[in-house]
Amino acid sequence: MTFDTAQILAQTKLFPGLDADQLAAVASKTTFVKLAAGEKFCEEGDNNAKNMFIILTGAADVFKAGAGGDSVKLISLHAREYIGESLLEGLPINATVVASQETTALKLNSEEFKSIITQHPAIAESLLKGLAKELRSFRTVLARAVSLSTSSNTPTPTSTERVVRLAVFDFMKHERVSFERAVADFRASLAHTDTDLKVSYFEVKLDATTVRLAAGCDAVCIFVNDSANAAVLTLLAQQGVRLVALRCAGFDMIDLKAAAALDLQVARVPAYSPYAVAEFAVTLALGLNRKIVTASGRVKSGNFSLAGLVGFDLHGKTVGVIGTGKIGQCFIKIMQGFGCKILCYDAYPSKDVATWENCTYVTLDELYAQSRVISLHAPLLPETKYMINSKSIAKMVKGVLLINTSRGGLVNTQDLIEGLKSGQVGGAGLDVYENEKALYFEDHSDNVMEDDAYARLTTFPNVLVTGHQAFLTEEALDKIGSVTMDNVRQCLFEGKVGKELTNVVL
Ligand code: NAD
Repeated sequence: MTFDTAQILAQTKLFPGLDADQLAAVASKTTFVKLAAGEKFCEEGDNNAKNMFIILTGAADVFKAGAGGDSVKLISLHAREYIGESLLEGLPINATVVASQETTALKLNSEEFKSIITQHPAIAESLLKGLAKELRSFRTVLARAVSLSTSSNTPTPTSTERVVRLAVFDFMKHERVSFERAVADFRASLAHTDTDLKVSYFEVKLDATTVRLAAGCDAVCIFVNDSANAAVLTLLAQQGVRLVALRCAGFDMIDLKAAAALDLQVARVPAYSPYAVAEFAVTLALGLNRKIVTASGRVKSGNFSLAGLVGFDLHGKTVGVIGTGKIGQCFIKIMQGFGCKILCYDAYPSKDVATWENCTYVTLDELYAQSRVISLHAPLLPETKYMINSKSIAKMVKGVLLINTSRGGLVNTQDLIEGLKSGQVGGAGLDVYENEKALYFEDHSDNVMEDDAYARLTTFPNVLVTGHQAFLTEEALDKIGSVTMDNVRQCLFEGKVGKELTNVVL
């Protein structure tokens, strides 16, 4: 096995800010060790331990003797985490650490380490900073211990069994079959290991009032309308959570800066089915243009008049696509099939798309000025928030059909309502809504609608509103389940972090 010891030391939390020479000095005192599953790195109470370890690959579990003599697992340690720091204080080892699988590590003899510290005060200073930072995350361990000792339904693992816990929030009926199948497949793959995965499902969304449900869990799994803001993430980290697994592509519900500061890994499902969303956007455009909902309602009530049902041929029309990523590209291909001319806008245009037939990148203003239909496929970012507002609407072709299957926040709803009232906007197909969090994915049919803007939107005959269902196909749900479990595997079972995670969100 080849590795750069100094670089590995630089990646641990123990030695922040050391220069290359200082890292080389520490690296020169390390040796490589390999432990089989079940072998101990150190034992609680040992007065004569001499070594510290930094994990390279694999993982180790930290156990402490409980009041009844049982061994209580506190946390698992993974790549770049260290073991045996109490040696620095000359204290007995404070926990037993056992390799939970074949694990490789760098070994650092404490006597030799103390000699380097004496010769290089900068290393001692760096170590102090690293330990001070770690003191804060030690609360994590305490919270875990408290949750384990107070939770009556949490079984105490044996010293060889490693249980990874996942809390799934905002879990909905429609995803039960596919997600539970993915979890069952994943657990089956663990059958011949000494590890297991326990999943708790919660219908409630993750927010400050529900975050305690994740106590004792290694990961939370959330969806588009959960609230993973800085306060919630801080509580998750304190409770021992290390991974936030998003069951979706968009990541506007999570404060990524706060997650990074708290060392929380964030992984997503980047593309569950771009076809599902693109096909739904086309469905909205067709349904709106040909007034399908109105027509269907009419014939059901015996009214066969065609008045007001006139649409237009899509063939030969100009369609504007904002955001030409995975979904935007699928949408373009379908519209090419209708014989449309495509105008594209993207902050990062695709060289590939630029070569497609009948497809041209233009400025936003040009797109607005020429497109009969505009479909939004850009992410919600500070720079895209309310990109569809009174000013941009004024630049559009009169009677434009506007389709939004991306994020509600791209559109200023009040400005859209004005545009619809004036006829400047000829129709809107909206699968997403800026304040959908309070409404979507739940049955509110017994409640009074308190959101006036939403209520107004639904009164227009030329507005089609759906409740964030563009992704909802069997294929997409299967992919969400399998990719989410793969993200869990990579982070919690293989110890991958940051860019090592295939679907990391940074
Ligand atoms: P993607 O990352 O593949 O594509 C997004 C594109 O937007 C990229 O090409 C990117 O360069 C572009 N972009 C970034 N900033 C931009 C800006 N300021 N202006 C214009 N373009 C910009 O993502 P995707 O898989 O195609 O998904 C697009 C969006 O669809 C997601 O952000 C998500 O919000 C939404 N979505 C909705 C549903 C649903 O069910 N309604 C499901 C999945 C995704």
